[in-house]
Amino acid sequence: MKEKIYTIPVSEVFEPGEGCPLCRLRETLEERALEYIMGAAMMEPDVRVQTNEQGFCAAHLAKMFGRKNRLSLALLLESRLAWVDEHPPAKPRRGLFGAKAEQPRPDGCYVCTRIDTAFEEMLETVCRMWAKDQAFRTLFANQACFCRPHALRMAAKAREVLGAKDAQAFQDALETIDRACLARLREDVSAYCRLYDYQSGSDRGENGGVRDAVSRAIWYLTSNKPD
Ligand SMILES: [Zn+2]
Ligand SMILES: [Zn+2]
Repeated sequence: MKEKIYTIPVSEVFEPGEGCPLCRLRETLEERALEYIMGAAMMEPDVRVQTNEQGFCAAHLAKMFGRKNRLSLALLLESRLAWVDEHPPAKPRRGLFGAKAEQPRPDGCYVCTRIDTAFEEMLETVCRMWAKDQAFRTLFANQACFCRPHALRMAAKAREVLGAKDAQAFQDALETIDRACLARLREDVSAYCRLYDYQSGSDRGENGGVRDAVSRAIWYLTSNKPD
């Protein structure tokens, strides 16, 4: 059985027109990857081989731990731990090339890898749709914001997959959205700072845009909203 996390319609994540559509896309891909790894993939021995070798990052283990399906997680960890046990850190080197490949990677994550692969493909689809589909170009222009990491990745993808003229036009469209979004954000963060001065930290801001300015700034800079 082949995984189906790639088939998310691009227009679906752009249609809400608020927040960053690529953050939304990433969340959907993550949800699907977690659902897959704790569901259908449990019956796929070749996937288990990969999860045993790659492991999971702390963030994704925490998300898996938070889901209902604790038995799936226990089964994944059971075979992952067996693999780790067979690859102790102090295992004697058997050969110059063998030793390197056998070391467990502390930073590996099967879920992150799956999401990143799908995300890159979706970025390419976004660029190509923008270049050939006028309706999508309008939908794109109507976005309120992209977080900065996703804007940078999208601009890089456009340079990679589009012709020079289209890539430049795409980056101009992206920059128009980013300028407006960043200007609003900076205004709100400054307003928050001024309110803090005046009110000594109490009841900062009547207006919601100002109240969550700090968490929105963190999101814009990192793609992640603080809890
Ligand atoms: Zn984003
Ligand atoms: Zn991960």
